[in-house]
Amino acid sequence: MKRLVTVVTGGSRGIGAATCLRLAEDGHDVVVGYLRDAKAAEQVADRVRQSGVRAVCVGADTAVEADVERLFASAERQLGPVTGLVNNAGVTGPFGRLADVDTADLRQVVEVNLLGTLLCSRRAAQTMTARGNGVIVNVSSSAATLGSPGDYVHYAATKAAVDTLTMGLARELGPDGIRVNAVAPGIVDTEIHARRGDPDRAQRVSTSIPLRRPGQPEEIAAAIAWLMSPDASYTTGTVLRVSGGR
Ligand code: NAP
Repeated sequence: MKRLVTVVTGGSRGIGAATCLRLAEDGHDVVVGYLRDAKAAEQVADRVRQSGVRAVCVGADTAVEADVERLFASAERQLGPVTGLVNNAGVTGPFGRLADVDTADLRQVVEVNLLGTLLCSRRAAQTMTARGNGVIVNVSSSAATLGSPGDYVHYAATKAAVDTLTMGLARELGPDGIRVNAVAPGIVDTEIHARRGDPDRAQRVSTSIPLRRPGQPEEIAAAIAWLMSPDASYTTGTVLRVSGGR
C-alpha cells in the first residue's frame, strides 16, 4: 500500500506538534518542520515514532526558497514521495495598532505567513501534480474574517490571503487530483501569545468566545486530520472554522 508522507511546517510545538502526533495515529509518516528549536522537533518526532510510523525532522525557514527546497528534498530522500502538506508555520508579529508596527515586523509576518505558504504549496504542487494526487491543508485563522483591529491587522490580512490561496489553488489543482483546504482556528492555547509578550491572552479573551474557553491544539489537529483523510475526499477549497463559535 502507498505510504502517506506528510510535511508539517512548524511541527515543533503548538498546533503543528499536535498535528504531527494526530497524523501519526492516522498512519502518516511525518516530516516535522521547524525553524530554530531542533530539540523540541526531535521530541515530537520521538513521540510520532511511538505510533509505529516514521518521522524525520528538518530545520527550514519556510520564507526562504532554498530552505523549502531542502525541506522537501530531504523529506523525499528519507521517507519517499510527499503526499501531504500542512502549511502550519506562522507568526503574529507584535500586538498593537498598525500605526505602531515597524516595517521589519510587517515584512516578517507577510513573508512567513504568506510567502512561506506559497513557496511550500508551490513545491508540493510540483511533486503532487506529477503523481496525480495529494492533499494540502493550510492553517489560517479566524482573524482572517474578524480583521483583528487593535491586535494585529497585518496578521489578519496575511491569513485572509491564505484563505484566498486555498480557494484558488483548490480550483487550480482539483483536476490534478489534489485537494486544498484550510482550517481557521480561533484563539488556541499555545506559546504563540507568550512569545509576543501576552501569555494570558488565550484565557483573557475567553469571555468573547461562545464556548467560553480557548481551543486546545489537539482540537485543531483533529480538524486538520479530517481534511487530510479520505473521509474528506469530496472536500476541497473550503475553510473550516474551528473557533469555539467566534
Ligand atoms: P507556535 O506555538 O508559536 O509555533 C509556531 C511554529 O512555527 C513553531 O514550530 C516554529 O518553529 C514555527 N515557525 C515559526 N516561524 C517559522 C519559519 N519562518 N519557518 C519555519 N517554521 C517557523 O504557533 P501556534 O499557535 O501553534 O500556531 C500555528 C499556526 O496556527 C500559525 O500559522 C498560526 O498563525 C495559526 N493560528 C494560531 C492561533 C493561536 O491562537 N495559537 C490561532 C489561529 C491561527 P520553532 O519554534 O521550532 O523554531
